Amino acid sequence: MPADIQPPHVQLLKYSKPNAAGHPVSFPRGIERLLLAVTLIFSPAVAFAQDVTTVLAQASRAMGADNLKTIRYTSTGAEYVLGQNATPGGPWPQYNFDWMISAFNYESGTASEELGNRTRADNPPRGGGQPSIGRGITYVTDRFVWTQIGPRSISRPWNVDDRNHQTWITPHGVIKAALRNKATLKWQTRNGQRLAAVSFTEPGKFSATAFIDKKGLVERVESRAAIPFYGELPFVTTYADYEDYAGVKFPSRIRRTQNGFPILDLTVTKVEPNVAVDVRPPDALINAAAYPEPTAVKVADGVWSIPGATNCYAIEMKDYIIVVESPLTNEIATSVFDAARRAIPGKPIRYVVNTHHHIDHSGGLRAAALEGATIITYVSNKRIFEGYFASARRLAPDKLTKSGKKAKLMAVGDKYVFSDGSRNVELHLLRGNRHADDLLMLYLPKEKLLIEADALSPGPPDAPLPAEPDVFSVNLVENIERLKLSVDRILPLHGRIVPLSELYRAVKRSS
Ligand SMILES: [Zn+2]
Repeated sequence: MPADIQPPHVQLLKYSKPNAAGHPVSFPRGIERLLLAVTLIFSPAVAFAQDVTTVLAQASRAMGADNLKTIRYTSTGAEYVLGQNATPGGPWPQYNFDWMISAFNYESGTASEELGNRTRADNPPRGGGQPSIGRGITYVTDRFVWTQIGPRSISRPWNVDDRNHQTWITPHGVIKAALRNKATLKWQTRNGQRLAAVSFTEPGKFSATAFIDKKGLVERVESRAAIPFYGELPFVTTYADYEDYAGVKFPSRIRRTQNGFPILDLTVTKVEPNVAVDVRPPDALINAAAYPEPTAVKVADGVWSIPGATNCYAIEMKDYIIVVESPLTNEIATSVFDAARRAIPGKPIRYVVNTHHHIDHSGGLRAAALEGATIITYVSNKRIFEGYFASARRLAPDKLTKSGKKAKLMAVGDKYVFSDGSRNVELHLLRGNRHADDLLMLYLPKEKLLIEADALSPGPPDAPLPAEPDVFSVNLVENIERLKLSVDRILPLHGRIVPLSELYRAVKRSS
């Protein structure tokens, strides 16, 4: 028995074991003593430690975390993409993969996640998320998150807080994070098992409670992480069926839920403690500002494109500006508003149109509220958006929280028209689009421009077309035809501006 594990006081023990029916079974006194002695030899006394420091020290030893600098594990299973559900409050879309290699470096606080043959689970797809990819690696540092797909490096600044949170709620990471963060201890009994509940907050980042069983193993983590716009969302991660890997304990089953919906479901097949895990952001990413200042590009008289990971558009009205989208993060959205004001000086941004609730389209809506703009969204979102705006930001209060300003929301139905004599801007719901139930597009009849999100995201001109027409694009065609819109050019929220003929080519129709 390790020297600093204190023997428990015998009087604390009521030695009984539940039988199959869950009732305690009493043992004769001699057997009771023997069982107690066996327990003392083979189980660290986490269940009896009285203070959090001892509980964590014992858990760290039991888990093999003391000398664990890195860990890499291979798994099979599914991930579910947060922020890309078809309807707000609904389940997250599922992606399966043949294998996932997850690696964490607890000294540098970095991580990587490589996915092999990641494919959408649903066909036809419902909800957002990237299309199926052969292989991609996502890298995480305390400041950057980026995904490498072949030669393409995609920066994901909106994922930084959540991904760092994921590093520090791993079975060993959560012990290390608790040790450095003035954790507190409570005891809980669940399913007849007494668990140490160790709670802490990583300042400005996330909060977590790790539930540690009597063997010193982390069996569950309840955590809250800041997600752009949506607020501080709760996650529950369970770790089960621990195996021993040369003194390092690691679960064979990892499951995570958010709001009761699955977000991760893994069966671990291989664990490698203390292998080299070296994650460094590419120079281009370090050298580029995290939030590069976009420059507006004129598309037509008074219509500007503001290119970015999510493209935005600025439309000049007689007395004001309409900005389409407040995407990704507050910082990125603010840089979009600045670009719109530079392109159209002397007019206020009065309206910000939210095309749909997905995080890459709504992540900066708090910046739009701070701007004082009225946020326009489809009617089904109004109540849930009000809830997002009202939810507390305790981990990292943002400028809107500090300002005390209230968001102005305007709900629109299937059609709405801005008109001030200078131009008309029509908003239309993409009825029946499986990408999102609240998907709005904008049509400028005079200019014959259509601004749309995620129904067509044109890749490079020479990119091969998918074998099967994208159902989101097919639905866009149906809506254009239903509404009898006369479109010259499509201004997408992702990808390049294209003539209407590209849409018909994508759905393999001649028009
Ligand atoms: Zn979307």
